[in-house]
Amino acid sequence: MLTKEEIGRNLAVIEGRISKACERSGRDRSEVTLIAVSKMNPAEAVIAAHECGIDTFGENKVQELCGKLEVIDAKLNWHLIGHLQTNKVKYIAGKVAMIHSVDSLKLAEVIDKESEKAGVVTDILLEINIAGEESKYGIAPSDAEDLARKIAPLKHVRICGLMTVAPETDEPETNRSYFRQMRELSVDIASKNIDNIFMNVLSMGMTGDFEVAVEEGATHVRVGTGIFGARDYTR
Ligand SMILES: *Cc1c(COP(=O)(O)O)cnc(C)c1O
Repeated sequence: MLTKEEIGRNLAVIEGRISKACERSGRDRSEVTLIAVSKMNPAEAVIAAHECGIDTFGENKVQELCGKLEVIDAKLNWHLIGHLQTNKVKYIAGKVAMIHSVDSLKLAEVIDKESEKAGVVTDILLEINIAGEESKYGIAPSDAEDLARKIAPLKHVRICGLMTVAPETDEPETNRSYFRQMRELSVDIASKNIDNIFMNVLSMGMTGDFEVAVEEGATHVRVGTGIFGARDYTR
């Protein structure tokens, strides 16, 4: 794990780059939320980042998220950004600020049911497989409106927008057209004025391409490596 000083320095760099991307595209810095993706990093790294001023974190696995919830006292905003199995929803209902990875009516129905039990309305995003990659979760852009319409009547979930994991690349510019398509899809669905569907959130951009995502309208960027350093997949 990086030291708190290193995490603080990384955060300052990322913050500067987000601000610059906002300036370039005529956006206000307050329009973009930085989600610090703490997966595969220990709770101590989360606490260190929190002490550096961050209170919004992303995890991709329910078990890891719940482990951190148990040991971290601070009241943080947790975003579930990874694929979610229906049988795991009960562990996080009422505990997360947002679920980014909804890609089926079935999953939305389970989130609705568990949210009702927990006495909350859960904010969700529809995950879009914008580049049509076989290896990726998410629905095709052309299925998004239909799925949104089916989820809309559920009382304990609120569709707040769209999320995507763009292709891995060393050249962020190659993802610009995907980010632009995401924004166009979001504007298109918003224009239908469907009850209980909001399109205020566009979750896109990671360590390798978040500046391009901000320039193309991201409201939430999910940055892991750029803050916490390379993840150790050998553990
Ligand atoms: C791991 C992960 C991220 C962060 O990736 P980095 O490249 O480390 O910034 C963002 N979004 C999702 C869905 C992830 O699983």
